[in-house]
Amino acid sequence: MFDLNTPIEKLTRVGPKFLARLKKLEIKSIKDLLWHFPARYDDFSKLLLISDINNAGEVVSIAGEVTDIEMARSWRRRMIIVNATVEDQSGSIRAVWFNQPYIADALKIGTNVSLSGKISMDKNGLYFSSPSYEKIFPLETGLTHTGRLVPVYPETEGITSKYLRFLIKPILLKMRGVPDPLPSEIIKKYNLPNLVKAINQIHFPKNLEQAESARKRFTLEELLLFQLRTLRDHRQLRMLKAPRINFDKKIISDFVKNLPFKLTDDQRVAAYEILQDLERPFPMNRLLNGDVGSGKTVVALISAFQTVSAGFQTVFMAPTEILAKQHFDSLCSTILTASRSLNADAKIKIGLLTGSEAKQFPTDEVVEEKISKKLLALKIAKGQIDIVIGTHAVIQKGIKFAKLGLVIIDEQHRFGVKQRMQLIKNQELVPHLLSMTATPIPRTLALTVYGDLDVSLIKEKPKGRQQIITKIIPHSKRSDALEFVEQQIRSGRQVFVICPQIETSKTEEPAQNKPISQTKLVWAEIKAVSDEYEKLSKKVFSHRRVAMLHGKMKPKDKNEIMKKFKDGHYDILVSTSVVEVGMDIPNAAVMMIESAERFGLAQLHQFRGRVGRGKHQSYCLLFTSSNDTRTTRNLKALEKTDSGFELAEADLKIRGPGEFTGTQQSGLPDFAMASLADIDLIKKTRLEARLLLKDDPALKRHPLLAARLAEMQRLVHFE
Ligand code: ADP
Ligand code: MG
Repeated sequence: MFDLNTPIEKLTRVGPKFLARLKKLEIKSIKDLLWHFPARYDDFSKLLLISDINNAGEVVSIAGEVTDIEMARSWRRRMIIVNATVEDQSGSIRAVWFNQPYIADALKIGTNVSLSGKISMDKNGLYFSSPSYEKIFPLETGLTHTGRLVPVYPETEGITSKYLRFLIKPILLKMRGVPDPLPSEIIKKYNLPNLVKAINQIHFPKNLEQAESARKRFTLEELLLFQLRTLRDHRQLRMLKAPRINFDKKIISDFVKNLPFKLTDDQRVAAYEILQDLERPFPMNRLLNGDVGSGKTVVALISAFQTVSAGFQTVFMAPTEILAKQHFDSLCSTILTASRSLNADAKIKIGLLTGSEAKQFPTDEVVEEKISKKLLALKIAKGQIDIVIGTHAVIQKGIKFAKLGLVIIDEQHRFGVKQRMQLIKNQELVPHLLSMTATPIPRTLALTVYGDLDVSLIKEKPKGRQQIITKIIPHSKRSDALEFVEQQIRSGRQVFVICPQIETSKTEEPAQNKPISQTKLVWAEIKAVSDEYEKLSKKVFSHRRVAMLHGKMKPKDKNEIMKKFKDGHYDILVSTSVVEVGMDIPNAAVMMIESAERFGLAQLHQFRGRVGRGKHQSYCLLFTSSNDTRTTRNLKALEKTDSGFELAEADLKIRGPGEFTGTQQSGLPDFAMASLADIDLIKKTRLEARLLLKDDPALKRHPLLAARLAEMQRLVHFE
């Protein structure tokens, strides 16, 4: 007896070796196994009599008896060849396999076998070349590997689709009475298969329509759960009490007037939306989404200023120390100019708190700028610091606030109610939350995922920004491009080189959820940081100062390298995509991206945003060895536009949302992401989720759904 939670090692067909490999695919329980869905299907459904096989190149299936089988060695081609003859009532055909000697043992003369594969032709006529095969047993329930639509799964080394089919099929045959979390009304309304049927159909469909409708069912389920969670979080927030921070128009307009620049319209609208949220009695949960350089910080600062003026503290979290420091410096100087009109007593006090340092601004008579972390923590607890800037980690470690009103998060992935609670420990008021991201989320996506009210977009950039010149560099122009880079360094500029991976992998990467064909396509040509670093530092730019940066380095070393690059100690930084979003290095003027086709447009745009931050004309050079015209055409979009939002929409169309970077922030499950293009389905599930919660907010009538929700929430809290 087993159920969905039964660990996979309980299956007699899974030994220790395979167990470890399955774990690589995150398959640990029967449920994981059954929910490991095919990436595609091989269509072996064309069943023919042998005499009806007429054309080479066709993919067909036959069933017959092995009448002859032998193994031969081809010394010249260093191969073992198995030759077989299979006969049905209409005729016979040859089958040939290379380097699979065990087949000669598996298929003895007299065995009934089903073959599927491509027909080839040689001087002796038509034959099957390396076909899929399976023995036919009289009592077996249908074919598994041949003669039908055959599932092809995301694989990993040592785990083939054939093995997965061999594991999954018998379980499906025994599977009964697995309760379905989807309400039956919804299943009926959308004309979908129930759970057991859907699981069967997604693995072994009779036709592609069946597979499609099964897939739709699972997508709908995931989306529904996602929407239920979002709506519930929303409700939960509304039941909490937040500090009411009045929108003081006079204070704000004075502050804005004193800024060194005029706000753009989008900045104005965003600030207005936030300030209105802050007035409400329940906590705000707003996402501020704007391209790199669109000026999100000042909008956050306006909100912080209002919060502080109302007597509450603000905490501003950055993902890294460097960014925290950068924010501290720029906030101090903006506050200094913009709060000129404030009298001395009302001056805003800012603190910086990271793993390595604590600072305060302005300094007072007794203490200097640099103070001890303990002292700063004490001041925060006493309410003597108004705005605290720091890294996520530091602030989570038990810093107590006297009166926290607003939490601002720059480029963080997840920060839910629970994390907010951690910050307020013994207070009854839950602070407002403003999260900021520079990953442009297409409006269509944002609206459906977050709902209309909780997203503010900054689309336009402040006027007078320099255009970054973007060029796709074909292989033939590579040395010219490097010469250009050399000139840039000679005139004092710094250069980023981005590669998709740290080391060249000798073995193939696990295909994970990507169609296998895709991973194979470009695999051989992906550039790696370590190789490029070697090449650039020892050969091409051996006379220059080159540094390397990647995610496997210790955080301390990473910080060190980034800081040194920022301070001008290196000319070239070779890096994976870890280079911080929002890193401000005005002297960096060239962004070179290797194997550009491996990144999404939105992500490439992010990289591009790391240059062009100073007064120097900046360049983005996209290197690609792919000669796929579609790839080049897609990359061309970057040459044409510098709008992150346009690129994000394009990305959504080209790559589908599964590949869309930044969507993890929405917390959407991967599987649902794969069909996010189906905005319509998202809208429908949102509606269904509303209906379900309307008069049954605890989902009492749908305990299975409630359980899945609880399970999801548990997972989220582990992140
Ligand atoms: P991001 O949205 O990437 O966080 P920042 O807030 O760091 O962007 O802003 C980038 C730069 O633009 C900063 O130097 C900031 O002072 C400046 N800036 C912001 N708003 C405006 C504006 N309305 N006009 C001119 N410069 C602005
Ligand atoms: Mg920023």
